[in-house]
Amino acid sequence: MRVLVVEDDQDLNRQLVTVLSDAGYAVDTALDGEEGYFLGDTEPYDLVVLDLGLPKMDGLSILEQWRRSERNMPVIILTARDRWSDKVAGIDAGADDYLAKPFHMEELLARARAQMRRASGHAKSELVCGAVRLDTNSARVTCDGQPVKLTSHEYRLLSYLMHHNDRVVSRTELVEHLYDQDFDRDSNTIEVFVGRLRKKLPSDLIETVRGLGYRMNSHQEKEKQGGD
Ligand code: CA
Repeated sequence: MRVLVVEDDQDLNRQLVTVLSDAGYAVDTALDGEEGYFLGDTEPYDLVVLDLGLPKMDGLSILEQWRRSERNMPVIILTARDRWSDKVAGIDAGADDYLAKPFHMEELLARARAQMRRASGHAKSELVCGAVRLDTNSARVTCDGQPVKLTSHEYRLLSYLMHHNDRVVSRTELVEHLYDQDFDRDSNTIEVFVGRLRKKLPSDLIETVRGLGYRMNSHQEKEKQGGD
């Protein structure tokens, strides 16, 4: 999952990037409104954290323009405390949620997880695919109830595929959503990580759809039992 942080307060920006990166997201960042608007307009994000008071272009205008041009990613706005009118204006402009400053990073993470779940059509924090369960709150994965140890890249990949388990996900989409802008993108690495996941989890959990990408297979356990 890839997140954009648009916040001009350097300390808060840095904190947000650290906390979101530690939580396993690929994070891009902008310190002013113009750069933030541009990134959100051109790059695919699973979530944007958008401050309202920004130099060069304010958060509300950014949000309105994104929504006008059908940029539909979930957006959490950051507002000043007690400015209820900002919250109303932000939600009316297309924000999905808000946080009033100062806020606890844990609350931001919980709201971020909820927005990303909802955007991909999930209500529960635990994603299930056959024998495999992924708890988005704790970032833990189990298979048949047994914990599975994954590296952060393996977890990111599995998490993205499980959030989008209703369809085929292309390699390009994976590269765009798993890595930040500055990452040296080599789509072959996706195949390497899929290979590693197939060794740690049921080998038929992730299907390769030739020429299109990957799809989660929720019937892997039944097939396995049938084959025994
Ligand atoms: Ca600000």
